[in-house]
Amino acid sequence: MLSQKESKMNILVTGGAGYIGSHNVIALLDAGYNVIIFDNLELGHIETVETLKSIKSEGSVIDFVKGNLLLIQDIESVFSKHKIDAILHFAAYSQVAESVKEPQKYYYNNVLGTLNLLNVAMDYDVKKIVFSSTAATYGEPEYVPIDEKHPQNPINTYGKTKLMIENIMDDYDRAYGLKSVRLRYFNVAGADSQNRVGEWHNPETHLIPNILKSTSDTGKVFQMFGTDYDTKDGTCVRDYINVEDLANAHLLALKYLLDGGETNYFNLGTKEGSSVKEVFDMCEKVTGKKFPVKIQPRRAGDPAILIADNKKAKEILGWTPVRSLEKSIQTAYRWEQELSKRLAN
Ligand code: UDP
Repeated sequence: MLSQKESKMNILVTGGAGYIGSHNVIALLDAGYNVIIFDNLELGHIETVETLKSIKSEGSVIDFVKGNLLLIQDIESVFSKHKIDAILHFAAYSQVAESVKEPQKYYYNNVLGTLNLLNVAMDYDVKKIVFSSTAATYGEPEYVPIDEKHPQNPINTYGKTKLMIENIMDDYDRAYGLKSVRLRYFNVAGADSQNRVGEWHNPETHLIPNILKSTSDTGKVFQMFGTDYDTKDGTCVRDYINVEDLANAHLLALKYLLDGGETNYFNLGTKEGSSVKEVFDMCEKVTGKKFPVKIQPRRAGDPAILIADNKKAKEILGWTPVRSLEKSIQTAYRWEQELSKRLAN
């Protein structure tokens, strides 16, 4: 339960109309915060905003501002309208392959957009931010599970943009007292347990939705990238963290900052690795379907194994992921069905 003071707080959520942002908006509303969503709707969806607005949470208020982080006046309009207490910053481009092909797009949007946000935040004396960082900041793992002491040597532009922002946040702390919590996500999966929001990307590049979309109705065949890795069954191993567990970590990180916590950074994962084949088998088990599959060569830039050591988040934030991969696939599947219904109408 939040204290009365905390429950009146206004939290700015950039990218709140996107996949991870929208689950966080629900978690914030459920916890009694007021939420201001800032999203340019390039990748986020107005339907998601409408769904979020329809969620009635006792006492908490939700507002939506359509705006672009590359336009200072758009950011100003939010800070001049609302007294912001803290920021959850999700808005970013996040496709690894695209980031390598189009670095300009990624540096410009992710880094400059964040600089603009931080600069306006500094002007308005808003100095608490929870930032979506990524396991991609570590690059090729030197050891697994990866803890936060692992060197950060990103091998793609996406990871580099996120690391640059982490570094900028450290400098802003030293110079201006900005307190940030950087949450380094591993592989986020699943959907809202009430099926209100879920993963909705176009094009979809992620493993679980791509398996679930590969049905005879759609004519899509699941492309399995690489079966010759040095892993238990030859396919890549990843650490799949449920999106609602991830949202809980953000609530704890926010509380940590509101309670006066210092700048910090945490891995968000389960410490369990699942191979692509294991995820595929679990999708067939959960849905009772057979998915068509085609073995493809390795996808460029995929490390063989990425698993998080999540001890630090457990110890300092008191966070424990509780939802299984099976639960993530169940909710993702239910959402996939809902999404295809919505898109058909
Ligand atoms: N993958 C796959 N087919 C797909 C999408 C992903 O075989 O259509 C594999 C990918 O090569 C990686 C794992 O699934 O080994 C997880 O990929 P995803 O894109 O979901 O997340 P990433 O690890 O890139 O963040």
